[in-house]
Amino acid sequence: MASPVLDSPATPAATAPPPTRGTRVSDLPEVRWAALSALAFLCALPLDLAGAPGWAWGPLYAVCYVAGGWEPGWAGLQALREKSLDVDLLMVVAAIGAAAIGQYLDGGLLIVIFACSGALEALATRRTADSVRGLLGLAPEKAVRVAGAGAGDGGGETEEPVDVAELRIGDIVLVRPGERLPADGTVLHGASDVDQATITGESLPAPKAPGDEVFAGTLNGTGALRVRVDKDAGDSVIARIVALVEEASATKAPTQLFIEKIEQRYSVGVVVATLALFAVPLALGADFTTTLLRAMTFMIVASPCAVVLATMPPLLSAIATAGRHGVLVKSAVVMERLGAVDRVALDKTGTLTEGTPRVIEVRGDENALALAAAAELPSEHPLARAVVAAARERGLRVPDADDFASVPGEGVRARVEGREVRVRRAEGEHADTAVEVVVDGAPAAVLVLADRLRDGAPEAVAALTRLTGTAPTLLTGDNAGAAARVAGRTGITDVRSGLLPQDKVAAVREWEGAGSRVLVVGDGVNDAPALAAAHTGIAMGRAGSDLALETADAVVVRDELAAVPTVMALSRRARRLVVQNLVIAGTCIGALVVWDLVGHLPLPLGVAGHEGSTVLVGLNGLRLLRDAAWRKAAERG
Ligand code: ADP
Ligand code: MG
Repeated sequence: MASPVLDSPATPAATAPPPTRGTRVSDLPEVRWAALSALAFLCALPLDLAGAPGWAWGPLYAVCYVAGGWEPGWAGLQALREKSLDVDLLMVVAAIGAAAIGQYLDGGLLIVIFACSGALEALATRRTADSVRGLLGLAPEKAVRVAGAGAGDGGGETEEPVDVAELRIGDIVLVRPGERLPADGTVLHGASDVDQATITGESLPAPKAPGDEVFAGTLNGTGALRVRVDKDAGDSVIARIVALVEEASATKAPTQLFIEKIEQRYSVGVVVATLALFAVPLALGADFTTTLLRAMTFMIVASPCAVVLATMPPLLSAIATAGRHGVLVKSAVVMERLGAVDRVALDKTGTLTEGTPRVIEVRGDENALALAAAAELPSEHPLARAVVAAARERGLRVPDADDFASVPGEGVRARVEGREVRVRRAEGEHADTAVEVVVDGAPAAVLVLADRLRDGAPEAVAALTRLTGTAPTLLTGDNAGAAARVAGRTGITDVRSGLLPQDKVAAVREWEGAGSRVLVVGDGVNDAPALAAAHTGIAMGRAGSDLALETADAVVVRDELAAVPTVMALSRRARRLVVQNLVIAGTCIGALVVWDLVGHLPLPLGVAGHEGSTVLVGLNGLRLLRDAAWRKAAERG
């Protein structure tokens, strides 16, 4: 590769990855087969109705049946070999049965509508994954690795293009203006503005200088950066987010699991009843074709297709919509659970506040600050980053440290230039966050830190109160004064301060023991146990520690607290849609079954009613996707 033209203007068009490829409808095999099936049916229909000879429309019907029926039929047979009965199979059998008694049109109609609802479901699932991918953009596949002397100022080094997968932790990569960052890492050299919208949703580019963290998939602005790779490609924030979404679509919500369990027995019941409905009247001397038609109609209308389709589309649509609002919900289980939450606990640092505190006062000598910075260097805590930044701003030399250990909720300890340095929470009353620097057991300085309240924090607290009927509680490891100040400014009255990680868990257990379903929102390593213990846990993504992101059930990537009530409201709407769907499905099945048993329900009408209700339920579930587009437009004004 040619030598880099540093400081050249950004040329995003030339270097940005190809635009995200959304799934075109025609890419999905389900959609293609359904379309072929429908096309064949539509060609056969007029010929059949016009009384054309069988050789004209027969093959067309055959194409229609095979295109629409082979996949569900085959899957149904596979399921049968594992002794489980698939409703899809019932549909195919019914269609073949209809054809067997010469009702080609009815069977074809059944197959076509059935294939179309299958395609619809596939589309919904794919849309979910796509919408999140679109949100994330693509991480590049290639990087420029710099090797050799210093890798800093250009003397005697080499640049080689490598696959991102080959990058190792500690490698140094060069990111030119307008390129996407290939890995998560730390800026070593250079200054630029990086557009991190793919990960945080923030529209303003973030300024980056040596020491700052950068993320794979984000877009470099006009400066050139040298970045030390801190994470393997598979561990980058963006890779984990994509993996999470893929996992989410593979999981099943509890309601869905419950329904599938019942579906089994129910389907067997339908088959038995169908056989009885066929055999008994026949034995009593009824007409063969009429009896068979009626039994077949029963089998179709009694099949629980609509019930099966009632649950997942609303939840998956809600997951997609949540993704667009900047919240990654890890599974349908979580999506369903979020709406049941009736009590919320919020962490302070990094959750209610931005998590980018600054040292505003150093009580003590600057050497203690330098030692503190040395000890904090390896820590992921927001306060640690502030301490390091403060030392650098003052031009202090930050020495190397060994034996680093962190105590979540307390502070850090390390050995610096032969001395034992501790940075830990300062006891006593402070209006701000205060940490104490202890050198060789003796207090050396107190650092006072201030963090900004997140924009929209009071509104989010109010929205959560409205949704759950209870004001959220503030759970923090910080001192009572700092906690009270943040609480006062956000409208929280219930505050618990000075908590260790296990105290946060104890609080959650206490509420859950009293019958509450608790949502914990946090960002730190110290929040991870509480996130895990709670009914549902949400991590704040940008400032959030890896452990918190890993442990939480959902991650706020756009870093807006308002996303938390939004996603809860979304979950409630999804749950309401599930119930609505189950009612629609149940009513339709009940009505059609009664009609068939008591009166005379013509097969085409039965098919139309059954598939119609199935499609209705499927579409109803997708409403959350469409609402999202509408809402987004409304938000933008
Ligand atoms: P919160 O629960 O509000 O997110 P933490 O539990 O992370 O806060 O931290 C609680 C307190 O412990 C902090 O206010 C600080 O006094 C101290 N502390 C935690 N980690 C560190 C650290 N790396 N350096 C200094 N102090 C720390
Ligand atoms: Mg925190």
